[in-house]
Amino acid sequence: MTQTTVMPAPGLARTSGRGLSASWMLLALASLVVASGCTGGSPSESARSGRAPGWIDRERLYSSEAGEDWWLTVGGDAGGTHYSRLKDINRENVARLGLAWQFETGTIRGLEATPIVVDGVMYTSGVAGRVYALDAATGKPIWIFEPEVDMQVNRGACCDMVNRGVAVWEGLVYVAALDGVLYALDAATGKVVWKASTFIDDGRARASTGAPQIAGDVVVIGHGGAEYDARGYISAYDLKTGEFRWRFFTVPGDPSRPYEHPELEEAAKTWDPKSRWDMGGGGTVWDAMAYDAELNLLYVGTGNSTPYPRAIRSPGGGDNLYVCSILAIDPRTGRLVWHYQETPGDQWDFTATQPIILTDLEIEGRKRRVLLHAPKNGFLYVLDRATGELLAAPKFAYTNWATHVDLKTGRPVENPEAADYSRGPKIVYPATAGAHNWHKMAWDPELRLLFIPTQEMGNLIFIPPGEPEYRPGRINANAALVFTPQLEFVLPTLPPPMQEQIRALPEYRNKERLRGRSFLQAIDPLTGERRWSVDSAGWWDRAGVLVTAGGLVFQGSATGTFNVYDSSTGELLKTIEVGTSILAAPMTYRVDGVQYVAVMAAWGGGGWSFPQPESAQYRFGNAGRILAFRLDGGPVPQREPLPEPPPIPEPPPQFGDAATIARGEALFSQTCSLCHSNQTRSLAPDLRRMTPAVYEAFDSIVLEGLLLPNGMPRWDDVLTPEDTRAIRAYLIDQQAKAYAAERAALDVPPASAPRQH
Ligand code: CA
Repeated sequence: MTQTTVMPAPGLARTSGRGLSASWMLLALASLVVASGCTGGSPSESARSGRAPGWIDRERLYSSEAGEDWWLTVGGDAGGTHYSRLKDINRENVARLGLAWQFETGTIRGLEATPIVVDGVMYTSGVAGRVYALDAATGKPIWIFEPEVDMQVNRGACCDMVNRGVAVWEGLVYVAALDGVLYALDAATGKVVWKASTFIDDGRARASTGAPQIAGDVVVIGHGGAEYDARGYISAYDLKTGEFRWRFFTVPGDPSRPYEHPELEEAAKTWDPKSRWDMGGGGTVWDAMAYDAELNLLYVGTGNSTPYPRAIRSPGGGDNLYVCSILAIDPRTGRLVWHYQETPGDQWDFTATQPIILTDLEIEGRKRRVLLHAPKNGFLYVLDRATGELLAAPKFAYTNWATHVDLKTGRPVENPEAADYSRGPKIVYPATAGAHNWHKMAWDPELRLLFIPTQEMGNLIFIPPGEPEYRPGRINANAALVFTPQLEFVLPTLPPPMQEQIRALPEYRNKERLRGRSFLQAIDPLTGERRWSVDSAGWWDRAGVLVTAGGLVFQGSATGTFNVYDSSTGELLKTIEVGTSILAAPMTYRVDGVQYVAVMAAWGGGGWSFPQPESAQYRFGNAGRILAFRLDGGPVPQREPLPEPPPIPEPPPQFGDAATIARGEALFSQTCSLCHSNQTRSLAPDLRRMTPAVYEAFDSIVLEGLLLPNGMPRWDDVLTPEDTRAIRAYLIDQQAKAYAAERAALDVPPASAPRQH
């Protein structure tokens, strides 16, 4: 069995967009060799079912086809379980797993989507909302859609210009691009059938990265931006025409203005009327949604609020509905049916946007229709999805912010001693990164086990000094956060009295726990009994999960391996060297009698500007791939390691004094450092390596948007030429230091003496 490498060919059908202009984001496709002939065209798979391409409807989604030959939603089936009944690949033969084909996306940013496969065609999404339609048996592209994205929104994309998937329904493929434009594409051709701009014109920072959700006659999408100044909402559009149907805001907004819908009047009672409405309120729905056709309920998980500290956000207290909640909404009307708030008055970024799974469980002899949810806050919620009744809420990771969830009141019992940082720094578990985040968990209904990619890590949290000032369109969290694995490095930089306070915290004594870890666990959602767990490579290593009736759990890793475990015991049965970090969840399907397991691979997401060495070391650093495996496949082609980077160029003369450099550092850290980590192989350019020409063009890039198509937004509403001058002075200082260090390491004298002006 030979595997093939497939890359888009020049003759391939590409739709919309302005083409491959974003050069630093995209590879030079023309320089790549197409390993197997590829001119696009239909794989004639639709003949297989006698249906039009991309034909998924209600009957089909609820038939035995879902989770068997075809993977019909991001989560595989109507419940989003990430479980497949396929078992052609199983414990006995998985050692024979190898690569069937790979497809190069031509991008170097994060890939987080789980593909959909129907009638032999794979539909999936990539950077900023690109869509790929591939022959699922060969990886040959049928069409590629490249949305023309307004990259200015990249300023509100906290966690990389990613996309977590498409929805496919009755011949249309739906995707939300980063700039919030929702597209319906013809599944046969990739041509735009309709599009709708989902961002309201209130000047607030938003970015769209989640998969659209089909719910009855509408398609629903939310957005991110709670850390900035977004006020969260979801919008619903007619499936066929794209006509706007309704919008549900998740937080009230300024009560001096009329409420958009009655639920907001109720929600407003749980906020101080003097809340910081100027900062937006958050509650953004940036990922999980689910739909139960029988109950006709749409389930939505909402995000955190801004600013984080409740004492600043809503000084009078209150639960601050509907942040960090599960909402059940009637998709015909957009009206709320029930809600359950997981973290009332959240102040730790414990979003409830994590993936939602719908299944049935027998509880005390009674079959219950349940919703399973493992949000950031460390508790695993089992809710009756018809009523919102809380049935169970065991812990699935170490938490100290609450001791438990009271099943009678449905409320967490908080531990203010450990977690209320309004009166001094605290070390809080879980971290803002979440005990579980967007990485898909999987539910095996036979084993009745949930497989959760879990992180046990904390944050040092404190409120920075000074009056909390609203900064339009920028991060307004007003809480300082340090992940505990980095605490030892950061501690000496804090004011000595605060260092003392931190060293006195009980959590500070548990060094083992401070180091943080991630692991895959199999857990009983009703009891919280952990059946098994397997440690990941490090705290930063977690990836989505697939479980199959073949007794197998599939999961990639940030260190570039693809791993298969026994679902009953956690025993590692197979590891395949991939050579690209994997974050996304694998999925599986069967075409022409062959079972495939496919996954998208590329580092990115939260922390994207700090690439994993395992990804960064390869040619083109972090080049995205879709990999499909089968029995008796071949090895994954390994990439040539990147050559050593060229020496740091000699910096231009320093023109700034110490005060200017210090001001530049502060501005850089507020405005630039989220993306520009200035590491040797960071994905955004290392600004210590700027050439004289780039310094020359600095203001055109930063203030006028010269590189906007590449994803570099303009900042002239925030920074003045005086500011950019200070930033340049800081960067010259950084470059001079790196240049000198490199020369010293090589034992080479500087090309010329450092110059001061
Ligand atoms: Ca957040």
